[in-house]
Parts: sequence; structure tokens; C-alpha cells
Amino acid sequence: MTQTSPTSPHTMNTYGRLSVAMSHGKGVRLWDTNGKSYLDALAGIAVNTLGHGHPKLVPALQDQVAKMMHCCNYYHIPDQEKLADKLVSLSGLTNAFFCSTGLEANEAAIKLARKFGHDKGIKNPTIVVYEKAFHGRSIATLSATGNEKIQQGFGPMVEGFIRVPLNDIDALKKATHNNPDVVAVFFETIQGEGGINPMKWEYLREVRALCDAKDWLMMIDEVQCGMGRTGKWFAHQWAGILPDVMPLAKGLGSGVPIGAVVAGPKAAGIFQPGNHGSTFGGNPLAMRAGVETIRIIEEDGLLENAACVGEHLKNALMREIGSLKGAKEIRGYGLMIGIELDKPCGVIMQRALDAGLLLSVTADSVIRLVPALIMTEKEADQVVALLAPVIKTFLNEST
Ligand SMILES: *Cc1c(COP(=O)(O)O)cnc(C)c1O
Repeated sequence: MTQTSPTSPHTMNTYGRLSVAMSHGKGVRLWDTNGKSYLDALAGIAVNTLGHGHPKLVPALQDQVAKMMHCCNYYHIPDQEKLADKLVSLSGLTNAFFCSTGLEANEAAIKLARKFGHDKGIKNPTIVVYEKAFHGRSIATLSATGNEKIQQGFGPMVEGFIRVPLNDIDALKKATHNNPDVVAVFFETIQGEGGINPMKWEYLREVRALCDAKDWLMMIDEVQCGMGRTGKWFAHQWAGILPDVMPLAKGLGSGVPIGAVVAGPKAAGIFQPGNHGSTFGGNPLAMRAGVETIRIIEEDGLLENAACVGEHLKNALMREIGSLKGAKEIRGYGLMIGIELDKPCGVIMQRALDAGLLLSVTADSVIRLVPALIMTEKEADQVVALLAPVIKTFLNEST
């Protein structure tokens, strides 16, 4: 990012922020504090599943805030049970644990895998992770992440991970050959921060078979690609497989902080009372947000919408910029689309903002579009109308 605002002396300097502050939103539009409006193709990084100010979500959350926001896990929390039921039925898995963020969900998954190993007598459990993966910024999830740039300065990394390339079953077999310490394979169905890199469905079926043969847990981080974004509830469902452990977060609460780990029979019984917990995890406000998000996705047919509008958006992008020299690839599923250019393009975030469009650039050269699932075809056309000229101008500049 080129133009960044001076950071307030009292917030830590952790983000290169663009010089704008958002004030409020409606649907897929946001307004900044100067009254300028933007089309939101980023949705708070795949978080605002229902867009902004959704007419069904807002009253439900207002009702919940007035009733009770927090109550600890010493007691039963009815909406926690309701959301667990719902996630179980949508995923085909059996039990859920709740927390508040993506990294927390992944930490729980890593702990599950380690205890799965210890329960079998494996003293140094090892988890297979992937190149370019992103699993969060706590020390353990950062260690699982495949990005040396963001690990830089925080060593030593946590041990117990081995790393393999995407979509290469022979590499996976070779890396784990005769290694009795392997307990799990852990990956995103479609890598988000790594540049919108999908796993191949055939590869996922091969990994599933290998996990079954070796008694490993298949752990799928659906934090970014889950919750309907690709047109299925969970992106791995396109491959017709079932994971053993599935961390969720981002879009699950449409903007209210929430995370979850959903587990199947092989992993659901590993944690016993005292093994894991989270103060905020499963609190009534977050649980209500999760329950209502799923209800509204179902009532309003938003899976179908994500699939159709995503297809429409991808086709329109293909037509407008697909054949430009410098546009390497347009990829993704549903409303999770990456446009890879042949050179670093971080500056496009600012230029799109100037044009009235919110998006992000990830992995240096991939423009990421992850709008709310409520986006219409007409709004998708507006995204393309705003974005195409920005990309054309950028690609025409000599570097
Ligand atoms: C964003 C993300 C995380 C981390 O989530 P936080 O809520 O920021 O901790 C983990 N995994 C994936 C795939 C993500 O996209």
C-alpha cells in the first residue's frame, strides 16, 4: 500500500491503513465519514456474510443485546446448543466447540490433533501443513502458516509440523513415509490469504483415503471459504468428502466475533472437561448471530445466490480482463474470487478505493473479491465496471 494515513499515536502500528474511515453501511454499500459511498466487495475480509445492516439480522441482535450478551460456560446456553445442532446437520459431523476467532478455532484443532496422538501413545505428534497456508497469528497457528514473511521476528516456531506443496499426493506420501508420528493433515479447501488457491477435488478425495488408511485426522480450515461463500455450506463439500475436524469463524456471525470447531466421530470425543475452554466462546450474543446468519442464508436462498452471482461475476471478469496481457488467472468458487496479475499490485487497493470499490490484494499480486452473499448480479456488474478500468490502467503502466 502506498498511501497510508498516519497512525494514531495510541494504536499499535500493526496495519498499513488506507486513509479513510468507514461510518456505516447498507447491504453491499458502505459510506465513509465524509459521506462518500463505496461498493463493498471485501465484506470485512469475508466476514459480513449478510452485508451491512441486514433487516432480518439487526432486530434479532438488538433483541439479544437487550436480553443477555454474555453468560459463562458454567451454565447451559440454549443458542449454543441450537447452533451446534445446526452446524452438525449442515456438515454431517457430530459435535461443535465454540470460540471467538479463526486462530482460536485452529488452536483448538491443533490441540485436538495432538491429544488424538497422545491418546494413541504418540509422544511427538506431527501435523502435515501446506505451503502458502494461513491459519492465524498466534504462535502455534503462525507456525502452521506457510509464510516466512509473517513468521519473521517471532521465532522459535512451535515444532510438530511438516510442510508439503498443494495438490501433490506423491509429495504428501513421500513427506510422511514411515513417519509414525503423523496424526493429522491440516489445510484450507481454498487458501485465502495465500492467494485464493483451491485444492483440487480429486486431491482431497485422495487425502481422505490416505487419512483413513493411516488413521490420521483430516482437518479442514474453512474459516474463510466456509459458511456458504462458495455456494456450498463448506467448500470441501464440492469434493464430496467429510473432514474429521473443521475450524470455522469469519462469516459465521456476519460480523459478530465468533469461531467454532466442528468435529466428526474420530475427533469429537477427544476433549474432556478441563482440556479446553474459552471465556467468550459460545456466548449468547455470538451464538444468536450464528443461528440467525444460518437461518437467513437458508430463508433467502443465499447459497444459490453465492453460486449464481459468483459465476456471473467470474464470467464478467473473464470477459473484461481475462484476455489482457498481465492478467495471469481468474480463479475461485462462488463469491471467493482471485484475480492474479503478473506483478505485485498492492497499489490497486488504494486505486479501487478512490474509484469507490472495496477489495483487497493478497499474496502480493492477487486481487481478492469476497463480497457479502447477498450481492446481486447488477451489483456484481457494478464491481466489474469499477474494477476493470483500474486493472487496465495498472497493467498498461510500465514497471
Ligand atoms: C482469517 C483466517 C484465519 C484467522 O482468523 P482470525 O479470526 O483472524 O484469527 C485462519 N484461517 C483462515 C483460513 C483465515 O482466512
